[in-house]
Amino acid sequence: MQKHFDFLVLGGGSGGIAAANRAARYGAKCAVIEKAQLGGTCVNVGCVPKKVMWNGAALAHALEHAEDYGFALTGIEFHWSKLKQARDAYIQNLNRHYQTSLEDNKVSLIHGSARFIDAHTIEVEGERYTSEHILIATGGRPLVPEIPGAEFGITSDGFFELEQRPKRVAIVGAGYIAVELAGVLNSLGSEVSLLLRRGHFLDQFDAMLRETLMEEMLEDGIAILPRTQIMEVVRESGNLTLQCENERRIPGFDTLIWAIGRAPNTEKLNLEAAGITPDKQGYVRTDEYQNSQVPGIYAVGDVCGRIALTPVAIAAGRRLSDRLFGGKPDSHLDYTNIPSVIFSHPPIATIGMSETEARELHGDAVKIYQTRFTPLFHAFTQHKVKTVMRLITVGAEEKIIGCHIIGDGADEMMQGFAVAIRMGATKADFDNTVAIHPTSAEELVTMR
Ligand code: FAD
Ligand code: NDP
Repeated sequence: MQKHFDFLVLGGGSGGIAAANRAARYGAKCAVIEKAQLGGTCVNVGCVPKKVMWNGAALAHALEHAEDYGFALTGIEFHWSKLKQARDAYIQNLNRHYQTSLEDNKVSLIHGSARFIDAHTIEVEGERYTSEHILIATGGRPLVPEIPGAEFGITSDGFFELEQRPKRVAIVGAGYIAVELAGVLNSLGSEVSLLLRRGHFLDQFDAMLRETLMEEMLEDGIAILPRTQIMEVVRESGNLTLQCENERRIPGFDTLIWAIGRAPNTEKLNLEAAGITPDKQGYVRTDEYQNSQVPGIYAVGDVCGRIALTPVAIAAGRRLSDRLFGGKPDSHLDYTNIPSVIFSHPPIATIGMSETEARELHGDAVKIYQTRFTPLFHAFTQHKVKTVMRLITVGAEEKIIGCHIIGDGADEMMQGFAVAIRMGATKADFDNTVAIHPTSAEELVTMR
C-alpha cells in the first residue's frame, strides 16, 4: 500500500467519505482510515436504522387509524426480530455501497484505528502514512453517566442491537435521541417512561414544538417523568430499579436507555503530537473554513461540536475538498438556517430562530404567525393528532427568520420551505404562493 497521500481522512463516516470522494474526483490521491464499519454513525447506528424503526412505528400508527377508515383488521402481529433482520441486511448493503463508492473513486481504504505521530504523519496498526492535508472526521459516541450501576443501561448503539422488543423501558435524556426512541418504542408496543432532569425536553427548540409534542406523547401513553435525577441503577432479579433523588425508587424496567448526549472521538487520536489542543469537552474547534489551529489539519462533522447532523458533515466535507483540491478558495459551509427534523410522533421540522431567540435579538420587531388544526386525515380518526405551525418574522417586511412545524408530514414539508427561507422569503412571498389543496402544507401559505 502506498504510504503518502494528498489527503488522509480519519473516519469513514458521513463527513469523511464525502470529503474523500469529492477530493478524489478532483484527482487527489486519497485514503480513508476507518476502524469499524464504513458509513459511520448515520448508516450503522444512527439516521438510517432509526428511520427504518420510525417507518415501522408510523405503520403501527396507520394500523391504529385504519378501522376509522373502514378497514377490519384481524390477526395483526408484529415481529421485532423480522424487522431487525431486514434492517441489518439493508445496512450491510449500504456498507458495501460505501466501499464501492470509494473503490470507484480510487480512494484507498485503510482498516484500523488512526493516531497522530506528528502534524503530517498518522499511524495505523504500526504502519505510518503521511500527507500534507489531514482531515479529522472521527465523529462521536454516546455518553453514559458516571453513577453506580450505569453499566446496566444501554445507549442508542445498544438499542440497535436489541433482538426482541423490550417490555418496559426507561429512557433517560431530553434531546433528539430520547424523544425519537421513546416514540418508536411506544408505537411498537413497549411500555415507555421518559425521564427528564428538567421540567421539559428539547430545551433548545421553539417552546411551541416541545409543548405540543409533550401533549401528544402523553396522549400516546408515554409516561413522562420530569425533574427526575437518577443517582443509582440497581439490578434485582433481572429487573432494573432506578434510585432517584429524595429516596424515590422507580422499579420494574427490563431495559434502560441512556440518551444524555454524545462525546467526540478524539481522546485516542494523540492530538497533542500534531499540536492540536481540543476544547474541554474534547471537540476539535475549527474556523469557518474547517481549519483546525494547525495548518494542514482540518475537522468536519460531529467531532467539531457544531451542528451534529449528517447533511452538515457531508456539506462541510465536500466544501472543504472543493476548497483544497477543486480550485474554489472561498468554499465553506454557512452554518445558519440549517433545517432539521426530529422523527417523533408526530414529527417536528424546524429551521431558524425560536421565538425566544428572535425576541432576544430583535425585541418588538418580531411578529409571530401560528395555526393549530386537525388535519383532514384525522377528521376521521378517533385519536386526533394535531398539527401546529409557526412562522417567526422580523421587521416591516416580515422576513421569515424561523419556521417550526409539528404534525404529520412535517418531515417532508420542510425541505422546500427551507430553500425559500434561505433565499430570504418574507411573509408576503408565502402569501403570494398559491396553496396546494387539500394538504396540511397549504396552511403555511395561508396563515393570518
Ligand atoms: P460519523 O458518521 O460518526 O463517522 C465517524 C467515523 O470515524 C466512524 O465510522 C468511526 O468508527 C470512525 N473513527 C473514530 N475514531 C477513529 C479512529 N481513531 N481511527 C479510524 N476511524 C475512527 N443526523 C441526521 O441528519 N438525521 C438523523 O435522522 C439522525 N439520526 C441520528 C440518530 C442517532 C441514534 C444518532 C446517534 C445520530 C443521528 N444523527 C442524525 C446524527 C448523525 O448520525 C451524525 O451527525 C453523523 O453521522 C456525523 O458524521 P461524522 O462523519 O461526523 O461522524
Ligand atoms: P442532545 O445533546 O441533543 O440531548 C441530550 C440531552 O440530554 C441534553 O440536552 C440534556 O437536556 C439531557 N441530559 C444531559 N445529561 C443528562 C443527565 N445526566 N441526565 C438526564 N438528562 C441529561 O443529545 P442526543 O444524544 O439526543 O443527540 C445528539 C445529537 O445527534 C443531536 O443533538 C443531533 O444533532 C443528532 N441527532 C439528530 C437526529 C435527527 O436529525 N433527527 C436524531 C438523533 C440525533 P437538559 O439539559 O434539558 O436536561
